[in-house]
Amino acid sequence: MPEPVHLIVDRTACAGHGLCYATAPDLLEPDDFGNPVVGAGPIPESQLEFARRAAAACPERALTLTSALPLSEEKI
Ligand code: SF4
Repeated sequence: MPEPVHLIVDRTACAGHGLCYATAPDLLEPDDFGNPVVGAGPIPESQLEFARRAAAACPERALTLTSALPLSEEKI
């Protein structure tokens, strides 16, 4: 079974260009400030390629794919 992959948004780096949610519209959507919002949980396997393309499309390098759990989802 493949390792779960999460997409992390660095909001301090994001400039709200929108290239990411234009690239992965089923995975990301803009909030009121133009920053992308990622659904909770790991990226569905069917969306992994879109997640990779969205991260590659970001000129600010504000998106990271990782197998580590985001801090907000860590189990305590
Ligand atoms: S492409 Fe990068 S800078 Fe632009 S909205 Fe997406 S994460 Fe932010």
